[in-house]
Amino acid sequence: MSIRFELIVFFLVISVIPLSAVIYASYDYSKDAIRGSVMTNLVVATENTGRAIDDWMASRKEDIRIISTIAGSTEKEKLAGYLYTFENEHQGVYEEFFLLDKNGNITFSTLNRTGNAGKEPYFTETLRGNLYISDVSLSSVTGLPEIIITNPIKRNDTITGVLGARVSMENLYTVIESIDIGKLGEVFIVNNKGELIFHENRSKILLEKINNNLAVKEVTYEKRGIGEYINYNGEDVLGSYYWLPLYRWGLIVEENKNEAYAEVLSLGRLIVGISSIAVFCVILLAFFISKRLTKPIDSLKNGAHSLVSGHFKTIPISSNNEIGELTEIFNQTAKELLDIRKKLETKIEIANKDLEEKNRELIIANEELKKLDSLKSDFISLVSHELKTPLSAIRTSAEFLESEEVKDSNVEKEMLENIILSTDRLTRLINNILDLSKIEAGKMEFHFEQVNFHEIAKVALENIRPLALKKNITISIEIPDNLSPVLGDREKLIIVLNNLIGNALKFTQNEGRILLSAKDDQDGIMVRVEDTGIGIENDKLVKIFDKFYQVDSTSRRKIGGSGLGLSISSGIIKAHGSEIYVESEPGAGSNFFFVLKKFDKR
Ligand code: ADP
Repeated sequence: MSIRFELIVFFLVISVIPLSAVIYASYDYSKDAIRGSVMTNLVVATENTGRAIDDWMASRKEDIRIISTIAGSTEKEKLAGYLYTFENEHQGVYEEFFLLDKNGNITFSTLNRTGNAGKEPYFTETLRGNLYISDVSLSSVTGLPEIIITNPIKRNDTITGVLGARVSMENLYTVIESIDIGKLGEVFIVNNKGELIFHENRSKILLEKINNNLAVKEVTYEKRGIGEYINYNGEDVLGSYYWLPLYRWGLIVEENKNEAYAEVLSLGRLIVGISSIAVFCVILLAFFISKRLTKPIDSLKNGAHSLVSGHFKTIPISSNNEIGELTEIFNQTAKELLDIRKKLETKIEIANKDLEEKNRELIIANEELKKLDSLKSDFISLVSHELKTPLSAIRTSAEFLESEEVKDSNVEKEMLENIILSTDRLTRLINNILDLSKIEAGKMEFHFEQVNFHEIAKVALENIRPLALKKNITISIEIPDNLSPVLGDREKLIIVLNNLIGNALKFTQNEGRILLSAKDDQDGIMVRVEDTGIGIENDKLVKIFDKFYQVDSTSRRKIGGSGLGLSISSGIIKAHGSEIYVESEPGAGSNFFFVLKKFDKR
C-alpha cells in the first residue's frame, strides 16, 4: 500500500468519522427538536381549535340563556319580533327559534312549525331546569347537521315554558375551518360513539363511523394527547386528539407524517449533502496534502533508483522540514557513493588494463612456448638429421675398414678422413648448440679487451681460405692500416667472422667474390661481409637470425649447416652492445654488417 493511499485513508478516518459523529448527533438533536416543535404546533393548533369550539358553543349557550331570560319578561308578540330579528342578525347560525309551553306544545316557531315536542329529550331534560344541548343530528327540517339548545323560561323562578334554538353546525364548521392550523392535514370531530360529527367532507357527517384509529379510540376514552399511527385512510399520520367534555366531542387534528416531518427530511437531505461535500473536500484536501508530502519521498525514491542505475542527478530540496534534511543527506551520500564508485571504476579499469597486459604477455609467452615447442621439434629433427648423417658416415667407413676385403691403403685413408670429418662436424654441431644455449641462458662468458681487427680477420680468413680456394672464390679485404682497435672478445668475434664469411662461401657460386671490410665510423668500427652469392628473399631476411632457420631446409639442400650460425653470431654481437643487419637481393648477393665499439684507451 502506498504512503499516499495510507495518508488519504488516515485523513478520511480522522476527519470523516468525527465529522460524521458530529453531523449525526446534530441531526439527531435537530430531528428531535423539529419533531418536538411539530408536535407542539399540532397540539397548540388542536387546543386553539378546541378553544374556538368552546367559545362558539359558549356564545350559543349565552345567546339562549339571555333570550330565555328576555322571554320570561316579554310579551309573546314582542318576543317573536325579537327572535326573528336575532335570527336574521345571526344568519347561518340559528336555523330556528321556537317556544314550547309546559306541555311541549310548540307555541311559536320562526319556521312557523306547530306540533308537540313533549317526548323530545331536549324538552324533558330542560323541564328539570337546566340548559340542554342535544347531540349533533341531521336536521329533520334542513337535512343538515345541527344541534338543538334549549333553556327553561322562568317567571319568578317558576318554569313557564322552554326556549329552543335549532343551531346549524355549518357555522361552527366554518369557524373551525377558518382557524389557522398551518399546513395540517385533516381536522375532524367525533362523538363518543366514534361517529363523525365534523369533517371537511360534509357527506361523511353522521354517516361514517371511525373505529380503527388510535386517536379516535383515545378520544372516546375521553383522553387528550398526541401520537403517530396509521389513520382510518391507511395513511401514516401524526395525530393530536382533544376531548371536549362539555359536549362529549373528540376533536382530532391529523397531519401526514411525511409532510409533518418534511423539515426533518430536508434537514436529513441537507446533512447528507453537507456530509458529502465535506467528505469530498476532505478527500480533495487529503489528495493535495498527501501529494505534497509524498512528492519529495517520490523524488527520493526516483533518486535512489537513478543512483542504482548510475544516472544520479541531485534531487532539488523543496522543503525545510525533515524530508528536506533527508534529501540533503541523501544527495551528499549519493555524491560520496558516486565518488567511491568512480574511484573503484578507475581502479577496476587499471586492474583490467593490467590484466589485459598480463593476458597479452601470457599470449606472447604462450606463443613463445609454442615457438619453443616447434623449436624443440625442429631441434629434434635437426639433431636426428644432422647427427645421423655424420654418424652413418662414420659407421659406414668403420664397417668398411673392419671388413678385410679391401686392402687398398688409399681407400683406407679416405675412410679414416671421412670418419675424422664427420667427427668434426658432430663436434661443431654440439659446440654450436652448447654456445647458443649458453648465450640464451646469459651464461656465455665474454672477456672484453682491446682487439686489433686485422688480427681477428687474419685468423678467420685462414680458417676459410682452403674452402675458398676449392670453389675458386676471391676473398678481398679492405681494412685500413690505421683502423682503430675495437673493444671486444677476440675469440667470440672470430666465431662471428667465421660464421659470416663461412655463409658467404657456402652461398656463393664458384668463381664468385667475397669482400670483408672494416672502417672507422662515427659510432665505432663498421664491419661488412659482402658476397655475390644467391642472396636472400626479402620476407626471409628477419627469420634468418632465428635458431635453426634455413632458407632452404629441404633434404635436397646440398650445402651443410645447422641454422645456428647466425643466431650465435647475433647473440655475440648483441653482447657487444650492437646488432647484425643484412641487406640482400635474391641472385645479387648479400651484405651483412655491424658496428663494433672502438676501444677507449682512457
Ligand atoms: P647455416 O648453418 O644454415 O648457414 P645460419 O644461421 O648461418 O645457418 O644461416 C641461416 C640461413 O641463412 C642459411 O641457411 C641460409 O639460407 C641463409 N644465409 C646465411 N648467410 C647467407 C648468405 N651469405 N647468402 C645467402 N644466404 C645466406
